[in-house]
Amino acid sequence: MSRLDTLSPGTREFLERPKGLLIDNEWLNPLSGKYFDDVNPSTKSVHAQIARASDADVERAAKAAKDAFYNSRWHNMAPNERGTYLWKLADLMEIHQQELAELDSLDMGMPIRAARYGTVPLAIDHVRYMAGWATKITGESIGVSVGNYLNYTLKEPVGVVGAIIPWNFPLLMAVWKLSAALAAGCTVVLKPAEQSPLSAIRLGELIIDAGFPAGVVNIVTGLGDEAGAALSRSPLVNKIAFTGSTAVGQTIMREAARNMTRVSLELGGKSPNIIFEDANLRQAVSGALMGIFMNQGEVCAAGSRIFVQRGIYEQVLEALIEQSSKLKVGDALDPSTRMGPVVSEEQFVKIQGYIEGAKSQGGKIVVGGSTANQQGFFINPTIIRDVTDDMTVAQEEIFGPVAAVMVFDTIDEVIERANRSWYGLAAGVWTENIRTAHYVAHALEVGTVWVNSYHVYDAAAPWGGRKMSGFGREMGKEALDLYTETKDVWINLDR
Ligand code: NAP
Ligand code: MG
Repeated sequence: MSRLDTLSPGTREFLERPKGLLIDNEWLNPLSGKYFDDVNPSTKSVHAQIARASDADVERAAKAAKDAFYNSRWHNMAPNERGTYLWKLADLMEIHQQELAELDSLDMGMPIRAARYGTVPLAIDHVRYMAGWATKITGESIGVSVGNYLNYTLKEPVGVVGAIIPWNFPLLMAVWKLSAALAAGCTVVLKPAEQSPLSAIRLGELIIDAGFPAGVVNIVTGLGDEAGAALSRSPLVNKIAFTGSTAVGQTIMREAARNMTRVSLELGGKSPNIIFEDANLRQAVSGALMGIFMNQGEVCAAGSRIFVQRGIYEQVLEALIEQSSKLKVGDALDPSTRMGPVVSEEQFVKIQGYIEGAKSQGGKIVVGGSTANQQGFFINPTIIRDVTDDMTVAQEEIFGPVAAVMVFDTIDEVIERANRSWYGLAAGVWTENIRTAHYVAHALEVGTVWVNSYHVYDAAAPWGGRKMSGFGREMGKEALDLYTETKDVWINLDR
């Protein structure tokens, strides 16, 4: 039986509908009339035709967002009313959560269980969390010393936000940006990744059903160097919120410089996961496995450099090998699948290249390194032992299920080596010693440190990177800083 037969009726109906561009609350054909194929990585078959937005389509969308911003349909609305729309959207997402999970799973290979019980509920929670912020955005009054003045600040929405997102967590990335921007009073043009546009399109339908005013949210599917590039250089866009690769982040920053468009960038990583000899090894091993193999390793914060202290190196390696070979790789829609396919042929070839490269540089593949079956883009969980810091697999983001396991001796040595990376997104530390935990957490040059845990995310906890992993914090109240401008007001109180 094809796994497609297990799709819910809502998903099947959605797949039958034509996929247009959402501009001013209407689904429009792209002006060029061009569409592109959307592929299921579990089967390599095409399941949808997606509208390919051109520069002109992006300008239509940006203009709709600008009009919606200026004609006050959104930012002058009472904050609690804005919040109510977001709550309504979250309720609709909850009703349709099975469909949303199936669409991400179908589109980019996320195991259906992870989507249904992990990322979709996180996405819904995120919308509700940000809905609450709509009524809590405040400036402050400031005691000035230069005279008799009342000085206070206003937090105003930046205007039109261009949100450009990757394929690895399609729905979650969309709502991280949308809900914070909308809570702050901005209007949005969203450009989903070409490999995974379906959940964003379904979200667009739910946004219309929730009654959002026209132009507040616009969705332009298309290619990065067309639709994405057009968005990042549009003079109508006031801010670009980008999640994706470091190379594209750099291009976007250059393009945005033309109009001095504000940018925030959530980029790649090569995150260290450090296991000390005094760690709870049962927890550490399962945390290290989940850290690298969750979502096939296609996670910006994947714990791809596993540092193990010398005294437990062989023991930990043995446990990692044993447990990773038990992870079931298969069709993402199969509820028993623990690891789905990687997203695309391009990604599949790239990951294989890294594995071959590691062999030629002296890395020993102790498990995996092969493809699970040829029906889709499947790669078995792969562990490379005795990796040294100078090897490519220790330095570059692979974005696949490949762990580099390394040995270390001392705490200061591992801190120095963990930081010797151009990335600085996240890190894990496994120890039962509270001093070691805090010492290492303080010393690491990253945005997030997990102690005796990995890949825990919450709408309230700020998220983002340092160094080549980018800047800006999404989630938590800091996310609102990305979408607001501070205005300072002076009132002369002298009569
Ligand atoms: P990507 O190739 O950089 O693409 C990201 C988005 O940018 C896509 O929508 C893409 O469109 C678009 N794009 C491509 N070229 C563009 C251009 N010249 N101008 C404007 N937009 C352009 O990244 P990806 O392969 O989708 O995702 C993987 C990367 O995302 C990894 O490096 C990962 O670490 C990073 N990531 C970071 C975080 C974080 O929170 N830090 C979270 C998730 C992922 P197309 O789809 O058409 O190419
Ligand atoms: Mg796809």
